[in-house]
Amino acid sequence: MSQQVEQLSCREFVELVTDYLEGALPEEERLRFEDHISRCDGCTAYLEQIRQTVAVAGRLTEDSLSPDAERVLLDAFRDWHRT
Ligand SMILES: [Zn+2]
Repeated sequence: MSQQVEQLSCREFVELVTDYLEGALPEEERLRFEDHISRCDGCTAYLEQIRQTVAVAGRLTEDSLSPDAERVLLDAFRDWHRT
């Protein structure tokens, strides 16, 4: 069984967001990341939220992505995906 590019889950997406915005993702990961955005409205909205946070804060800090905040966002994803 040979699988093509493994698709990113929403949880992985959230974990990669900071690296993506910092330009720290290897190209392969970045492509999977952008592929996920093109298919997932929830993550597109999430990415926009993070972008705005960065715009306001000037940069991404550890505080702006605390584990609690991540959990809240992941809960929100579950709602979005539950149709
Ligand atoms: Zn997603």
